[in-house]
Amino acid sequence: MTDVDDYLERWAVLRSRAVAAGAQGLAIGTGKDLAYLTGHGGQSWERLTAVVAATAPDTGPALFITPKLEAEGITAIPEVFTFAPWEDSDDPIALAVPELPARGRILVSDGLPSQHLLALQRALPGAEFLALNETLGGMRALKTAAERQALRTVGGLVDLVHDQIRNGEVPLVGRSELEVQDDVRRRLLAVGHETVEFVIVASGPNSASPHHHPGDRVIQAHEMVLFDFGGSLNGFNSDMTRCVFTGPIPDDVGDAWASLREAQELAFRAAQPGARLGDVDLAARSSLEAAGYGPEFIHRTGHGIGTEVHEHPYVTSNNDQSIEVGHAFSIEPGIYRVGKWGMRLEDIVVIDDDGPVRCNNTDRDLANVGSD
Ligand code: ZN
Ligand code: ZN
Ligand code: ZN
Repeated sequence: MTDVDDYLERWAVLRSRAVAAGAQGLAIGTGKDLAYLTGHGGQSWERLTAVVAATAPDTGPALFITPKLEAEGITAIPEVFTFAPWEDSDDPIALAVPELPARGRILVSDGLPSQHLLALQRALPGAEFLALNETLGGMRALKTAAERQALRTVGGLVDLVHDQIRNGEVPLVGRSELEVQDDVRRRLLAVGHETVEFVIVASGPNSASPHHHPGDRVIQAHEMVLFDFGGSLNGFNSDMTRCVFTGPIPDDVGDAWASLREAQELAFRAAQPGARLGDVDLAARSSLEAAGYGPEFIHRTGHGIGTEVHEHPYVTSNNDQSIEVGHAFSIEPGIYRVGKWGMRLEDIVVIDDDGPVRCNNTDRDLANVGSD
């Protein structure tokens, strides 16, 4: 899917953005950033794995520093990076130093462990180390048409499991959150996900905790159950939230849900190319504030998604960045009434030339899945 030209293009864009940021060097630790630039995410241990490079446009390939014992699984792309495998008797920092400016700015990825960053700082006391996060995150945030399609495909898979829950195919009342979590995991794989990344099942008052960890609590009749889960296919993630009620929906819950749905829809409509990302958050937030739920909406409206479940761009009220064609992010306002119930409605949205498109299409009602 990604070929040599794609990697060369990514490096060219990265170098020009880094130069624009006044940087002369790059140090990229393991994880999705490294995978984006080399095809190999690697893993961080006490042994250093990192790619270092100068930012000047005519610089040759980057240098991939990795322990000899890890190097075997990595396919070299000579145009993009050359290998510097090291043995336990070597000093890997000494391999990195000649590639980096002794004075000047070095942008460092979030995936470089502090022990290695501190060693680099000791070896290059005249250099200034700054975060690469925004620069590279901004690049990774722009998905190609094929990547947006990958997000739609995996979004269609997670829809199927939410449909099963809403149709009553997943028994809830009388089972613990953990049992239901297990059931959902199996279903995520059965519909075609290659991995399960996370499954939140939050019942009754537990639903008021946005990132509740499922436990032994047994699901009762006449209460809220919040489902937020996702997995990956071909490296791209799904992430979607729906809620169900195990009985007839009380008026206060139904009213709150109607406001939540309206807020989510308004945020979706605000997600137009050229608009501020912050305005997507404000659309949801001001709508919930006007309906009286402002203090109970306690998190940002969304996050970017791609090869990581949470990545740039972040949909926060103070994000002044413009929405661009290629962005992919969640729109997930919530209302959390502590001690009683919580609710969230989440879809992934990709920005196409014509505007926002949802990757999730399961019904957005609050379903009564109870026996009465
Ligand atoms: Zn979350
Ligand atoms: Zn989610
Ligand atoms: Zn999310």
